Amino acid sequence: MVYTCTNCEWKSGENAGDEGRTAIEHYIETGHAIESESTVTERTAPATDETPSE
Ligand SMILES: [Zn+2]
Repeated sequence: MVYTCTNCEWKSGENAGDEGRTAIEHYIETGHAIESESTVTERTAPATDETPSE
């Protein structure tokens, strides 16, 4: 599974088997929304509108 960031050009795939974890880490560190490549669509639901605890 390849994950892509909807806010910048980040994407997983460099660490086979670790894509999910690196995707979560990118989300936590940046607050960017991550989507898996197979489900990249023009979703309108703000499902990832939460910000990490400050
Ligand atoms: Zn990003």
